[in-house]
Amino acid sequence: KMQGPVGCEERIFVSVRLRPLNDKEIDRHDVSDWECISDNTIIYRDGLSVSEKSMYPTAFTFDRVFSSDCPNRQVYEEGAKETALSVVRGINSTVFAYGQTSSGKTYTMTGVTEYAMADIYDYIQRHKEREFILKFSAMEIYNESVSDLLSVDGAPLRLLDDPERGTLVDRLTEETLRDWNHFKELLSLCEAQRRIGETSLNETSSRSHQILRVTVESSAREFLGNDKSSTLVSSVNFVDLAGSERASQTSAAGTRLKEGCHINRSLLTLGTVIHKLSKGRNGHIPYRDSKLTRILQSSLGGNARTAIICTMSPARTHVEQSRKTLLFASCAK
Ligand code: ADP
Ligand code: MG
Repeated sequence: KMQGPVGCEERIFVSVRLRPLNDKEIDRHDVSDWECISDNTIIYRDGLSVSEKSMYPTAFTFDRVFSSDCPNRQVYEEGAKETALSVVRGINSTVFAYGQTSSGKTYTMTGVTEYAMADIYDYIQRHKEREFILKFSAMEIYNESVSDLLSVDGAPLRLLDDPERGTLVDRLTEETLRDWNHFKELLSLCEAQRRIGETSLNETSSRSHQILRVTVESSAREFLGNDKSSTLVSSVNFVDLAGSERASQTSAAGTRLKEGCHINRSLLTLGTVIHKLSKGRNGHIPYRDSKLTRILQSSLGGNARTAIICTMSPARTHVEQSRKTLLFASCAK
């Protein structure tokens, strides 16, 4: 297993990011019970007296932990960059943000996506010996229904199985990126599309998954006497997951039926898939059990690289969900 952020051969890199207490939490005199005590260990100090605190920490260790004052730049550099940039070398990858609603997933993924794209453009600038084409697509999965965030019609999209390329999203818009500004324009289009969804359906953003996908095609330039056989095609996926509270199962018989519709199949299946992948590549991996894992199959497992950034609120009132998030993070390792 990975020894630190430099271990580029690790296929699933798991980090945890603590956000600061927000105004609402401060107003209700909530307190932070969590502390990052090193680059890879976060501890919980549940109701212990000051003198006991240093004696009885509950420690959780990951590939990396980010304290509440870490900026997006650092979270990107140390938690996602290596994974995301493997795309320029022809390797598929996925960066996820996992955590309960309002823990900082969107804040984190927005930063990660922009920094990664800037680095991809920078790489292209510095590698004139190859010709690069970037393509961008964006989709949302809500209640196991897939929609195109670059199209206004909002009709559900079907998944098709292609014997060569695996699962394809039928009729998904794929824009060839002209430049950085074009990329930013498409990002705002996605945001607008997501907001339209939110007004018609309650709590969409906490219940839906957003996948932004950048496909990189590159080939050696002809004038150097190379042939086209050196063409590389791969994708990087930036995934802002539904709130992890949607993965919680209840065992109380009376509430199970009511809760049932809130349980997110894609989120549950993702947990199972990631857990099985982290335990080695043998055995059946249930990619086909959900839309999210079908769409991401070629970028999860196999030779692909994965980074999972688990975001959490430091607040005592959220301790139960924070523990579940850390449990998910531990299972991914
Ligand atoms: P989620 O997408 O998980 O529901 P958001 O990313 O929307 O959560 O974050 C909730 C709020 O907290 C937002 O106002 C966001 O700007 C703020 N926030 C989240 N993470 C951080 C952070 N690390 N530092 C500062 N503010 C943050
Ligand atoms: Mg969000």
